[in-house]
Amino acid sequence: MIIIIGGGIVGTAIAYYLSEAGLKDITLIEKEKFLGTQVTQYCSGGVRHQFTTPINCQFSIESMKTIRELADQIDYKKYGYLILDMKEGITEPRVKMQNELSIASEILTPAQIKKRFPFINVEGVVSGSFYKEDGIADPAALLEFYEKGARKNGVKFQMQTKIKSLKDLKADWVILAAGIQSKELGKTIGLDIPIVDRRKYVFQIEGFDYDFPLVMEVPTGWYIKKEGNDALVGMSGKIESKAFEKQEESLEETIEASIHRVPEVEQKGLKKILSSMSDETPDKHAIIDSPLPGLIIATGFSGHGFMHSPATGKIVAALVKGKKPIIDVSELKLKREQIKETIAI
Ligand SMILES: Cc1cc2nc3c(=O)[nH]c(=O)nc-3n(C[C@H](O)[C@H](O)[C@H](O)COP(=O)(O)OP(=O)(O)OC[C@H]3O[C@@H](n4cnc5c(N)ncnc54)[C@H](O)[C@@H]3O)c2cc1C
Repeated sequence: MIIIIGGGIVGTAIAYYLSEAGLKDITLIEKEKFLGTQVTQYCSGGVRHQFTTPINCQFSIESMKTIRELADQIDYKKYGYLILDMKEGITEPRVKMQNELSIASEILTPAQIKKRFPFINVEGVVSGSFYKEDGIADPAALLEFYEKGARKNGVKFQMQTKIKSLKDLKADWVILAAGIQSKELGKTIGLDIPIVDRRKYVFQIEGFDYDFPLVMEVPTGWYIKKEGNDALVGMSGKIESKAFEKQEESLEETIEASIHRVPEVEQKGLKKILSSMSDETPDKHAIIDSPLPGLIIATGFSGHGFMHSPATGKIVAALVKGKKPIIDVSELKLKREQIKETIAI
């Protein structure tokens, strides 16, 4: 028997790929009435290849194969990602590493950025990188694809059931994909799973009725993204708290950064505010590890769990089957040296 704890995008992807790999007697246990109602429901839908570490790039390369295959079903749009760097010497090594992995991202000067994307104020930008295959897709549609596929393959979904402890579970394999709550569940068997308590706010700005790439700024983590005929803006920023009371402070900080980088934001209206806890690890890399026999942890996706869910599902299925996974995940162990990712939101 295989038990998956957590019906977010990660747990549901794992259920799908385990069942696709021919494994039987799989139950996904979810504490809520519906799948995807925790961090997954707040996902902005960004899918990108541009990361600063090879392991994150490899996750994107593998996952994007699936995202391309499902493009129509999950509304994958190649608007591109434009990453803006404020310091010298950051863009070049990043793009070199990506190009070596066959990600054809390109370096742009501030003048080239301004020419291609006139709505951006390039003040303070030293250089940037752009990759046209990056873009956005629909997280709810991918979740539905996994759920339908898993159910068809015989996976049982046990909803509204909260696992209180990992101690008493009887199964050949337990897959811990409980997002932020993986930390609490880890404690029940003495595991310290380092998820950082942090709330993120995303603001919807009305009226951006044209195509534009997802623009991100390093190191602030500020970004703007197309959302139908509107735009979403968000920021990692300075606000590191789980308090709802910080919403106003965060709004001010994010709107200020947005007006600076995209001056037309000032003329638009604010439509709604989304707020969610984030699923970050200190080094912004997921944890995929089997620290005890029969237990696999897949959590802490640090703002890229949607786009990396296909590779994650396939990797966990391989680990359960005792096969070599498509990516060597030894760097993603629970206990590790930090391998810092700087492009994270
Ligand atoms: C504002 C925001 C924007 C983002 N934008 C992007 C983006 O553009 N692209 C991208 O790829 N990623 C993005 N992310 C990150 C992405 O949404 C997450 O990495 C991903 O959704 C994590 O999925 P998960 O399944 O690990 O966690 P979750 O979605 O949190 O799922 C965990 C599930 O486990 C269940 N659970 C917890 N405890 C228990 C228990 N004890 N018993 C039973 N069930 C339990 C929960 O109810 C939940 O359904 C964003 C995140 C935020 C907050």
